Amino acid sequence: MDKTPLESWIAAKIFRDTFAGELSPADVKRYQLEKLRDTIEYARARSPFYRRDLSEVTTKSLSRLEDLQQFPFTTPGDLERRGPEFLCVSQSEIERVVTLQAAERATKPQRLYFTESDLELAIDFFHHGLSTFVRPGDKVLILMRGDKPGSVGDLLVRALERIDATGIVRGPVLDPRDTLRDILKREIDIMVGVPAQVLSLVDHRDGRSLPPGRVKSVVLTSEKGLPSAVQRLRDAWGCDVFHHFGTAEMCPGAGVDCHAHVGHHVREADLYLEIVDPASGKPHPPDTWGELVFTTLTRRGMPLIRYRTGLGARFLTELCPCGTLLRRLETMPQP
Ligand SMILES: [Zn+2]
Repeated sequence: MDKTPLESWIAAKIFRDTFAGELSPADVKRYQLEKLRDTIEYARARSPFYRRDLSEVTTKSLSRLEDLQQFPFTTPGDLERRGPEFLCVSQSEIERVVTLQAAERATKPQRLYFTESDLELAIDFFHHGLSTFVRPGDKVLILMRGDKPGSVGDLLVRALERIDATGIVRGPVLDPRDTLRDILKREIDIMVGVPAQVLSLVDHRDGRSLPPGRVKSVVLTSEKGLPSAVQRLRDAWGCDVFHHFGTAEMCPGAGVDCHAHVGHHVREADLYLEIVDPASGKPHPPDTWGELVFTTLTRRGMPLIRYRTGLGARFLTELCPCGTLLRRLETMPQP
């Protein structure tokens, strides 16, 4: 069976294009362990936060991925209180700063810093993740902001160029009728947006009369309102619906589902994911819901180690019908 684009991408990253055989889960684990050690040493050498936070632990004790459990968590509160201490490069090397909306009870905004190489990794992931369903020549309407370099819309456009597809940044839907007219005029094949935005098009009178199959696929980028949005889109437009999962802290992609739509194929070359008990912080077994925690494996500007996302998720053990050996993650749907 042909490997999925994401699995081929990870194999190429692990073996630096020198490997023609089968990638095994052990190969992925070996690669991730090496990158975890590199990340921890790098962060400890350059980030004042991690120099202090990781002073009690050593990478010598990191002989299996599970050993990461002895390392402390990083929390959104740490980012809020001590944000600049996370920086591992000089400000002049920062290409993009993302300011997160202040969380409840937060006193300061959280800032995330990314270098050009961090953004390049994001484009590379989008390129291969989107290749699951975008074909050369496709026109992709992006209902997200893309006016600033390094914004999600901009990263998507640059990734699509690598598939010889065209990304058109339209931004959030302000006038559904106008957006629907644009979809017909430009002969849009694929749309990317959050469920509420896309549903504002489906529910519009002109949206209900859009010919079935006009839009081939829709990529939804948030968990909020996801299950019902997927069904309504399939029923109304006869299109395939994918879900991309990620957060700004993940810069910004973490996984995307395949045509089987049973969990996300994970960006394992750049992120190591864990599921823990939200109360005790202890690891949860596969197929059990818990809190998603991630560690960046290749980030240069601001690596994050065991970052608590507060998001519900679980790993799925059953093999995906597409045959990938990548771990699959299911995120908890939100009403
Ligand atoms: Zn699959």
